[in-house]
Amino acid sequence: MMEKKFIKSLTIKELEDHFISLGEKKYRARQLMNWLYEKNVDSFQEMTNFSKELRGHLEDAFSARALEFVERLVSRIDGTEKYLFRTRDGAYIESVLIKSDVSEEGRLTACLSSQAGCAMGCRFCETAKLGFVRDLEAAEILDQLCHMRRISGQRNNNVVFMGMGEPFMNYDNVLRAADIMNYSFGFHISVRKITISTSGVRAGIERFIDERRPYNLAISLNDTEPEKRMRNMPVERGNPIADISAMLEKKFPASRNRLTVVYVMRQDNISSDDARRLKKMFRYNRVKLNLIPLNRGSHEYDSPTEEQVNRFVRELEIMNVPITVRKSFGSDIFGACGQLSGKKYTEICNSMAKDVQ
Ligand code: SAH
Ligand code: SF4
Repeated sequence: MMEKKFIKSLTIKELEDHFISLGEKKYRARQLMNWLYEKNVDSFQEMTNFSKELRGHLEDAFSARALEFVERLVSRIDGTEKYLFRTRDGAYIESVLIKSDVSEEGRLTACLSSQAGCAMGCRFCETAKLGFVRDLEAAEILDQLCHMRRISGQRNNNVVFMGMGEPFMNYDNVLRAADIMNYSFGFHISVRKITISTSGVRAGIERFIDERRPYNLAISLNDTEPEKRMRNMPVERGNPIADISAMLEKKFPASRNRLTVVYVMRQDNISSDDARRLKKMFRYNRVKLNLIPLNRGSHEYDSPTEEQVNRFVRELEIMNVPITVRKSFGSDIFGACGQLSGKKYTEICNSMAKDVQ
């Protein structure tokens, strides 16, 4: 038997066309999205304003859920929640729900995965160690949000594609999912509250700007010297940051995106020379530098001390580089940046963190 399609991968236009082909009215598509995203139902049988026949048809052709929920861990330190999901073909992916209302007013951020595993091989990142498994479909990206809303009972107002995987290596599905979560009759998450983070895939960044995509963009820089960056982030080889920078300089001023440059601070990339090179890179308007102290993992790097972070921050401030330092959330459940690794750490964490499910 052919596997059923995931209904959440369909755009509103595709759903409308589908209903029309069934001899149904177009507005059914919006009703369906309301069931899927607003009411967050598990099955077509719950869609009580559809006829029995229509429910039966949808049931035969589609799956309403794209992911199976496996487990939730809750951080004792800051309440961050990490979710483990299984795909239909047995891959494991993780998502994180971060309550950052300590520093920012009522913000609830969902950190989503775009791929199972990752092919980019960054040496400081736990996801890289899994290797690449496969791209996620749009429905599998959206269902992470559906499950987290259902289980936590809370609605996130912010989305970042900073979980497992490189979003721009799965461009079509990621942008399709972002567009669907923006629909006013779906999750209605504002385009300004959706951020796509890339390790620096040039073709993807250029396409994103050329297509006038309205979402925020984050680029993970992490080193200021090309040779060193190439060692730590192999993506630099075919996608030199210098080229990306030149392309951005040309195209970015006309775009309306907000751009953040992410810099993971290790002991070996926060010298005064690094600060000076960063300063040089920041000649565009509206670009913000987001500093993240390296989180622990099975890599060979050392995290900076608080004093080293403060010194680096001061140097950048003196040079007027616009910076924010990102607080690390959920480190006790291996839910912080660069720590997502499928089910690898779940058992270790189970003995450390309480599950309040
Ligand atoms: N693949 C995309 C998005 C997912 S990675 C990207 O690389 O941008 C999300 C972020 O975690 C990236 O900014 C990455 O640089 C950062 N990161 C990776 N390993 C980390 C670690 N050990 N500590 C802190 N941040 C890390
Ligand atoms: Fe992939 Fe991002 Fe991790 Fe690099 S940092 S391996 S691109 S998930």
